[in-house]
Order: sequence, then structure tokens, then C-alpha cells
Amino acid sequence: ETLDKGLEKSKDSFFSKLGKALVGKSTVDDEVLDNLEEVLVSSDVGVETTLKIIERIQQRVARDKYMSTSELDRILKEEVASLLNEGNPDEAQDFDTPAGIKPYVIMVVGVNGVGKTTTIGKLSSQFKKKGKNVVLGAADTFRAAAVDQLKLWGERVGVPVIAKGMNTDPSAVAFDAVKEGVDRNADIVIVDTAGRLHTKVNLMNELTKIKRVMQKVVPDAPHEVLLVLDGSTGQNASIQAREFTKATEVTALAITKLDGTAKGGVVIGISDEFKIPVKYIGVGEKAEDLQVFSKSEFVDSLFK
Ligand code: GDP
Repeated sequence: ETLDKGLEKSKDSFFSKLGKALVGKSTVDDEVLDNLEEVLVSSDVGVETTLKIIERIQQRVARDKYMSTSELDRILKEEVASLLNEGNPDEAQDFDTPAGIKPYVIMVVGVNGVGKTTTIGKLSSQFKKKGKNVVLGAADTFRAAAVDQLKLWGERVGVPVIAKGMNTDPSAVAFDAVKEGVDRNADIVIVDTAGRLHTKVNLMNELTKIKRVMQKVVPDAPHEVLLVLDGSTGQNASIQAREFTKATEVTALAITKLDGTAKGGVVIGISDEFKIPVKYIGVGEKAEDLQVFSKSEFVDSLFK
């Protein structure tokens, strides 16, 4: 139910808009498809993905010679589900179930303000509740607030937070955090990184260096690179995803703040464009408001 509540805004806006777009229409024709296109674009599905969906529906109309507007809901739902399937081949799993890798090292990237620190705090709280040993690394050494906030989460949840002075080399903190994880026989090490999207080359160098230094302790670290995106920023989230995927290999996405936006369609567009599994979505500020992303539940909520 938290998911339904969290996606309320997206759902309401999507359907009231879709309803309006179909008023007085019984068959799917060009005008209906134009309206649908507008609804999808304004829900932040993204232009490319929208066109893909429209095209697929057009093909079905052409094949069947006819489609009633009352069928459109179901068919749209099918098309969205199939796009999500293409982007996320498997149903997402929590990070806490990798096969025998200890510590499992998760490097978290994303620009400032997207909810990176909060997401790490929520994750550590959830892992801790499941009895996992977690170590956090505060490698965003450019912002005192980020380090303080992570420490606060650490205290609240009861997990150690490795931090060093401001402006120390982030990779030194990452090294210490992974080392601490090994020493404590931790299950999971989560390393926060600086969210500066300065120049592409700098970003790339910084992330590469952090990885390289981690690998001195755990050769195949990081096991995951989690990119956090703010879902309420719509197309900006896509732009950031483009920048980060150019700078480093991203293995998973967390899309936050979907509770505060009517633009849940961004999940569909990003999933389609990047084909990187959406692992988590944020639908509120509490620890339990970070949810393992389920394609089927997401589509059901959106189309309920
Ligand atoms: P960072 O700069 O990327 O580390 O961002 P923060 O973790 O500090 O988050 C920025 C703000 O967004 C904070 O006020 C968080 O409470 C809030 N926030 C993060 N995730 C969510 C979410 O899923 N829903 C809502 N409503 N707020 C969120």
C-alpha cells in the first residue's frame, strides 16, 4: 500500500490526463494517439520512449484494423510493462542477497540533493534490520553536511561510519571504509561519493580512482555502482544518468522522491533508455519508504 500511496500523484495525474484525452472518443484514431503522446510526454516518460510506445500501439491498431478506447488502458499497460521488462530483465532483488561475497561493496554516485545520503541511510537501516553487518564510508568529503548527515544515520541505525577530515581525498575514505568492512567481517560496505558533476573528465577520474583504491583491499570491488536520481526532476534525471554512465559503469539505479511528483513516468523512460536495472525507488523520507523496485507492482499501481 505504501507504493500505491507513494505513487498517488503520478497515478492521479496520469489517469485524469488520459481520461481527458479520450473524452468523447470510442475508437483509437490519430487524434487519440496525439493526445496520448502528450499525456506520456507530460508525465515525463521521455520523447524517445513515448514515440516507441505510440508506434507499438499504432502497429496494433493497424494489425487489428480497430481498437476501442476502452481497450487502450489495458494495451498501454501491456506496452509499458514490456518496456520495463526490456530495461530490467529480472525482477529486482535487494542488494543483501549476493552469493557469498563478503563484504559486498556498494559505491553510491549521484549529484547533490538527489537523495543520495538519505538513500544510503535507508538502505543501511533495512540491511541492519535483516541482521546484516554494515559499514558506511563518508567519501563525500567536499560537503560537511553530507558527512554529518551520514553520521547521524549511522548513529540512529547503529552502524559505523568511516569519515576523515573535510577535503581529504575521497579515495582514502573509501579505502578505510572497505578495510574496516574486511576487518569487521561486515556483510555490506556502502560508500558515499561526492556529487559534483563538474567536468566529465574530472568525474571520471575521481570515480576511477576511488574504485582503484578500493580494489587494493577487495580486488573485485565495487560489486555495485548505484546511481541515485531524483525522479521529481523529470528529464534532468535522464541527463544526469547520461553523464554518469559515460563516467563510470553503473550497475543499478535508485530513483527517489517519486512521492512528491506527478512524473512517475520518468521510471519508464529511464529504464528504457539505459537498460540498467532500477533496483530501488524512494516514495518518502522514512527508512521503509525506500522500496525494492518491482516492475509488476509499479505498473499495477500506475494503472490501478
Ligand atoms: P544528497 O545531497 O543527494 O545526499 O541528498 P539528501 O539525502 O540530503 O536528500 C535531499 C532531501 O531529499 C532530503 O530532505 C531528504 O529527506 C529528501 N529525500 C530523499 N529521498 C526522498 C524520497 O524518496 N521522498 C521524499 N519525499 N524526500 C526524499
